[in-house]
Amino acid sequence: SGDTASAAPGGDVRLTRISKSYGSFTAVHPLDLTIPAGSFFALLGASGCGKTTTLRMIAGLEEPTTGTVSLAGQDVTALPPYKRPVNTVFQSYALFPHLDIYENVAFGLRRRGIKSVKKQVHEMLELVQLGDFARRKPQQLSGGQQQRVAVARALINHPQVLLLDEPLGALDLKLRRQMQLELKRIQTEVGITFVHVTHDQEEAMTMADTVAVMNGGRVEQLGAPADLYENPRTTFVANFLGTSNLITAEVAEKSGEDLVVRAGGGRLALPAQRCTDARPGDRVLLGIRPEKITLSHADDAGAIPDGRNRLTGRITESSFIGVSTQYLVDSPAAAGLSVYEQNIERDPRLVPGAEVVLHWNPAHSFGLDADQSPL
Ligand code: ATP
Repeated sequence: SGDTASAAPGGDVRLTRISKSYGSFTAVHPLDLTIPAGSFFALLGASGCGKTTTLRMIAGLEEPTTGTVSLAGQDVTALPPYKRPVNTVFQSYALFPHLDIYENVAFGLRRRGIKSVKKQVHEMLELVQLGDFARRKPQQLSGGQQQRVAVARALINHPQVLLLDEPLGALDLKLRRQMQLELKRIQTEVGITFVHVTHDQEEAMTMADTVAVMNGGRVEQLGAPADLYENPRTTFVANFLGTSNLITAEVAEKSGEDLVVRAGGGRLALPAQRCTDARPGDRVLLGIRPEKITLSHADDAGAIPDGRNRLTGRITESSFIGVSTQYLVDSPAAAGLSVYEQNIERDPRLVPGAEVVLHWNPAHSFGLDADQSPL
């Protein structure tokens, strides 16, 4: 149907024992990673974790110290960037200021000596919804529009893999959110593999099918966004992807599907399959997300259904943030527990100083080995 985009199939990305050292400093430790063709993959981590270095090794902009990169089944480790079936979109859009949008997008085709570019350029401008802007100069566009030009300019070369290095970093929050959905739509439409580098967990979770959380030059956990959020395997991942309450506890027993732990003089349960190695007497961390907890005033404790985990506590702070109220609660099991309550039926008694019961479905808890890393 003249859809050029679908003519470029995605390629998979396979990194085998790839690493990068600068002198005695290892930016990326030997890494094995397979990114399936056609997926939207995010490398997520704090500044300095090695995500950009990993991306640049895929692009060919950085030579790996060890290991190989293969793209669409071909070992490209020894190929320069321009011979690889990839294109990169950077945070600085690097558009040509003296060329209009049309010519910016046409650039890659013209450089390859292709004469009739009109149809393809227009298709690309439609894809990024800039059909009416062809004759404007880059400085006459907003940041988000310029970013879309940069994407169109990269996609017109029909890469099998598009690499995006913090492409939305220069945009304000609202525009960022719009562009996240826009890039996701474009990826779905063209079907090629996107590898996206970001330090913004919400961005990675919104856009990607699979997220690799990097820390200290290593992938700490890899998975679908919901899986990482609900089943973090390390304290780093638990804390990097949103707020988590981590309660130090001691394993009491296994009871059917549940692992029962002791914390602050009470007993809490969590799914045993999330802590398969735990033995009675072991120290574990029980994790629970703030929005999974319900706060009841202590006077209403009798109305809490059986089978829920419960902790007594006292509210130390509350802050109204529109759609929800965020509470901090001190409990004998842990100080400073975070609780987010939707403001649907606010209980006026839930103010600092109030005695409360925090309760939640045990199935929403996750467990971590308490000794794996310092808190
Ligand atoms: P950011 O989000 O800040 O770009 P990042 O996670 O992408 O961070 P990288 O750019 O991959 O991190 O850098 C990883 C580590 O390697 C950092 O500690 C960085 O200082 C170091 N590094 C990167 N390039 C070089 C270089 N050319 N020489 C020495 N060290 C480098």
